[in-house]
Amino acid sequence: MKLFDTLAEMGHEEVVMCSDPSIGYRGILAVHSTKLGPALGGTRFWQYGTDEEAITDALRLSRGMTYKNAVAGLHLGGGKSIIIGDNKTKDRERIFRAHGRFIDSLGGRYITAEDVGTSTKDMDYVHMETGHVAGLAGKSGDPSPVTAHGVFRAVQASANRRWGSDSLEGKTIAIQGCGSVGTHLARELHEAGATLIVSDIDSAKAARVSKMTAAKIVEGDAIFSAEADIFSPCALGGIINDTTIHKLKVQIIAGGANNQLLDERHGDGLEKRGILYAPDYVANAGGVINVYGEIAGWDAQRALDKADDIYDTVLKVFDIAEAKHIPTYEAADRLAEQRLAEAG
Ligand code: NAD
Repeated sequence: MKLFDTLAEMGHEEVVMCSDPSIGYRGILAVHSTKLGPALGGTRFWQYGTDEEAITDALRLSRGMTYKNAVAGLHLGGGKSIIIGDNKTKDRERIFRAHGRFIDSLGGRYITAEDVGTSTKDMDYVHMETGHVAGLAGKSGDPSPVTAHGVFRAVQASANRRWGSDSLEGKTIAIQGCGSVGTHLARELHEAGATLIVSDIDSAKAARVSKMTAAKIVEGDAIFSAEADIFSPCALGGIINDTTIHKLKVQIIAGGANNQLLDERHGDGLEKRGILYAPDYVANAGGVINVYGEIAGWDAQRALDKADDIYDTVLKVFDIAEAKHIPTYEAADRLAEQRLAEAG
């Protein structure tokens, strides 16, 4: 791996390899950018096949956070940290306290929170060693209502661009995933007069949302070919791919899941098919807005109000895409880069 060439190419400021062999701790702190403020991004605890894989993930995810935070209009840069290992381990205090000490050594240039494989309890251990941690229990709490509200606003903005009105009355919306985000989103969409189709691999979760919103339930991959106006992915990433893209009958995709496009060329494919795509990291920024609210001392309402702005941001992304004749996923990156350049 040509590490320094990669850092230069991807624009990272600093990547720190952290090690404490006495407790089997191996960590990576990746600070992509502090141009807009301290680099915020969660800690991922994962068993990687090789060290290169872990470094590549840290570099990719930290850069993604710079773009997400920039587009959300927050005074935050982008970073991410990785702990390499079995995230089911019971020996958590020593590992997360070690992680916290390394984070502290960056003096506030990097702030962490939960991510895959970590919990609020783990962040409490990090907090024993550093103040540079958010997403703590009893603070900003579950981000999913704010995330869902932001996605709802992204759906409204997309509807406005496609049909000339925010109204979702009489529109049919297919939601994949009835977890935390999917459930809150379904409630808001139902209240706005939309008809819902839902799916979840956990049938009890789909049934709960159906009971609350009168949604029709479909099994498995049938959600991709659902007769709907809008598709809202709220489960896994990579679901817009070679297999699914031709099944879609919708005119809009706007959802909460991270990394919805398996590859950038699938974003181009949506464009070719005339499907309006609200880029995932723009639509789901409510989660990071919620964490920012904790750092900035906001109450829950202020975070929800800030998530309202996602409506304008999505429209701005569509404007750039139209003006420059580029796909919307690329337009979102341009908007982030514009904000970073202005700050620079
Ligand atoms: P969650 O685990 O609560 O819900 C995910 C749901 O998807 C689960 O109910 C699961 O059973 C279901 N699911 C998994 N595979 C499926 C499949 N193939 N078909 C149908 N359903 C399937 O997670 P969440 O917090 O609601 O997050 C949902 C997505 O949004 C994730 O991609 C997450 O990264 C992203 N996201 C969440 C937040 C947040 O605030 N929670 C913020 C930003 C992004």
